[in-house]
Amino acid sequence: MNASRLAAANTPDAERAFFVADLSQVYRQHERWRKWLPEIEPHYAVKCNPDPYVLRLLAALGAGFDCASNGEISHVLSIGGIDPSRIVFANPCKAASFIRSAARAGVDKMTFDNADELHKIARIHPGAKLIVRILADDSKSICRFGIKFGAPLEVVPSLLAKAKELGLNVVGVSFHVGSGCYDPTIYADAIRRARDVFAMAEEAGYHFTLLDVGGGFEDALFERAAVVLTEAIDEYFPCRDDISIIAEPGRFYVSRAFSLAANIIARRAAASADVQAQAPTPPPSQEAEEQQPSVMYYINDGVYGAFNCVMFDHQTVHPYVLSMGGSFHCPASEALALSSVWGPTCDSIDCVCKVVELPAALRVGDWLGFDNMGAYTICAASQFNGFELSDVIYTSGTGAAGEEVRAVLRRFAHEIGESV
Ligand SMILES: *Cc1c(COP(=O)(O)O)cnc(C)c1O
Repeated sequence: MNASRLAAANTPDAERAFFVADLSQVYRQHERWRKWLPEIEPHYAVKCNPDPYVLRLLAALGAGFDCASNGEISHVLSIGGIDPSRIVFANPCKAASFIRSAARAGVDKMTFDNADELHKIARIHPGAKLIVRILADDSKSICRFGIKFGAPLEVVPSLLAKAKELGLNVVGVSFHVGSGCYDPTIYADAIRRARDVFAMAEEAGYHFTLLDVGGGFEDALFERAAVVLTEAIDEYFPCRDDISIIAEPGRFYVSRAFSLAANIIARRAAASADVQAQAPTPPPSQEAEEQQPSVMYYINDGVYGAFNCVMFDHQTVHPYVLSMGGSFHCPASEALALSSVWGPTCDSIDCVCKVVELPAALRVGDWLGFDNMGAYTICAASQFNGFELSDVIYTSGTGAAGEEVRAVLRRFAHEIGESV
């Protein structure tokens, strides 16, 4: 509302799109994790959303971190108070210089899935604690990783033999079922494969102590995935006193914590409403989804920015009216029109939403809202065409969770010697 008022008063940039991040939502996800997977230590996948306050809160809550690059490692360590042993360098294909920096920073846990990586690590960081990343069945995930990463089980014995020959220390196994896993039963199969690899390790003269179950946790399916995982771990790892189990959840933690508000900066109606009414009606055989939107809205963030998730992460976004004609209230009786929503750049690929029903009375200056914008959005946004990245406005939340978040952050600041 404030943004609308400022924009109406011609305050520069007042209509810029912005995120609202609710840290108490991240906190609640952590509570949920601890309740359902108490035995598994989450290592937040930084790439999903490296937001400084999210990282700080998770650090304060005692989570670990999954980093894929030198930059992510420095970013996490710069928070302060995080021991490098809480980081897993979970990129199986690392630049030699990154391995060197990790060694210097004291980050020892790292994954590999090929023999060349072993030679590099033997040369640069021979004391590393290695984790063999195996191929999991990722056919039930929206973003599949198997074509790029993961050793098939058949090659694991030769990789372990090579590691032994090079005098390396392999401590465990990891997998990733793919990001956005919509069939949680897939975790059971992956755990069975991991068990087979523990056996291969014994053959090769290693005794594994680490099981890393990766990421892929979907908010809506989390409890089901947790039950499948817990049962599979009980079945395949009945004796696990000397095994630590970790995971690398990304989107689970942040997806729902961020919403985006975007301003309608332009609008194009195919014809005026009156002309529309007179236009020939389409033949009755035509399906509803074939109907062409009659209004195009242009908003000030798009697929080159926050909505890159539409391209890279295969997300579908659902706009809703945040404010219309200066009011938060949008009566349910508003007439709707088939609409399309576009980003601000000059590229026609910059389409946020091909077809959606929105109130026909929406005009330039009104605001659209988008929920579930925390995962794989800001982190990959570009400034193509000179459009700036949308800012983030934070809230620690209301109620008990909000109180907790503030207390946890205060305690953490005190622990790392910051004045509060
Ligand atoms: C991307 C990634 C993750 C996080 O995946 P989510 O689906 O966001 O949970 C975890 N581990 C590795 C190795 C990844 O590449």
